Amino acid sequence: MTSNTPVSDQLFDRAQSLMPGGVNSPVRAFGSVGGTPKFMVSAKGAYLTDADGRDYVDLVCSWGPALLGHAHPAVLEAVHAAVDRGLSFGASTPDEANLAALVKERVSAVERIRMVSTGTEATMTAVRLARGFTGRNLIIKFAGCYHGHLDGLLASAGSGVATLALPGSAGVTAAAAAETMVLPYNDLAAVEEAFAAHGKDIAAVITEAAPANMGVVTPGEGFNAGLSRITKEHGALLILDEVLTGFRTGYAGYWGLTGQQEGWAPDLLTFGKVIGGGMPTAALGGRADVMDYLAPVGPVYQAGTLSGNPVAMAAGVATLTHATQEVYAHVDARSLELSAALSSALDAEGVDHSIQRAGNLFSVAFGTSANGVHNYQDAQAQEAFRYAPFFHSMLDSGVYLPPSVYEAWFLSAAHDDAALNRIYDALPAAAKAAAG
Ligand code: PLP
Repeated sequence: MTSNTPVSDQLFDRAQSLMPGGVNSPVRAFGSVGGTPKFMVSAKGAYLTDADGRDYVDLVCSWGPALLGHAHPAVLEAVHAAVDRGLSFGASTPDEANLAALVKERVSAVERIRMVSTGTEATMTAVRLARGFTGRNLIIKFAGCYHGHLDGLLASAGSGVATLALPGSAGVTAAAAAETMVLPYNDLAAVEEAFAAHGKDIAAVITEAAPANMGVVTPGEGFNAGLSRITKEHGALLILDEVLTGFRTGYAGYWGLTGQQEGWAPDLLTFGKVIGGGMPTAALGGRADVMDYLAPVGPVYQAGTLSGNPVAMAAGVATLTHATQEVYAHVDARSLELSAALSSALDAEGVDHSIQRAGNLFSVAFGTSANGVHNYQDAQAQEAFRYAPFFHSMLDSGVYLPPSVYEAWFLSAAHDDAALNRIYDALPAAAKAAAG
């Protein structure tokens, strides 16, 4: 088990007496790997430092946002300057349009954009907008895809819900769940069948651009393009959720790597994480005629006291400005190197596995080499029990992995040779631990 971290232990005891499970987001409680979560007090570049003064090479990167590395000087400078001008004005500010323009310039499918504060708000608004625009109620989602914690999309969700092995959530009404159809991922025939039976009632299909919340799953050849075609044929919308992949898997997100070249475009996209560079910002964007259904132009209501917050906008503008093609080339290369090293360490201990990959995102799935992981059923069938000992061995060696096998590993521009070497040194013992 993990080395002694008495300060984190004390902080966790206190937190548990004050907050459900001692956390403000379930996966942080280490529920699926056991042990006491580490309380972090600072982060710089590729490293996190905990309350006991131990540092870790960070492969969570704040669950995605820290693409440039933690506390990037240009982002901090922009944030400090914004803070000095005031925290929130409750009125429009110049940087909202600056961030909107940066997104639009990178992602040509975005004609209009609205800033919100979390990825959940972005997908929630996209779903309401799709219903308002089409006048239909049903939403199709895929098992294992996570789109945030809005009622209607929690059915068969990945991420924390996969980790906790809950089918959905208590407190979600049958009526809310009944308006969501959950289909197996990577199965276009199931989508065709659903549209054949219910086409005139389906407002939208929502999908992660590449799933990364049941572990990473590669969208099969033509899958996303097929969703675009089928939704179009039936007058429904395609919502491509790029909250996790957007501005991380490439300059124009996962769609930029795939759909843009294939010649199809989603009707709506959602963004989060990297777009705010570590501050609470997310967004939805897409076709102007659809987006203009949002208030105050259109009849679909959406609002937010802190939407477009000036400090968050400054962080987003600085982050996207510095997220250059060189940054993506670095993260892509490091991701290939690291996943190859991980795979060889596991092979050396005879641990059956597959590396699941979508662009520069990857995760490991144990006991799945025969067929890989193509959907939620495959992801759940893996030997997940191997991850906890692997995780704790890495943690002991100063490497902070996602505390769940169902999450992607995140790299940044700051992951240099020194950071990677620490990970490579840690892998053999962790692979042995996984072998059991
Ligand atoms: N969509 C996807 C694909 C996500 O990965 C997440 C969060 O991990 C969300 C939506 C929800 O974003 P947030 O946690 O900011 O509400």
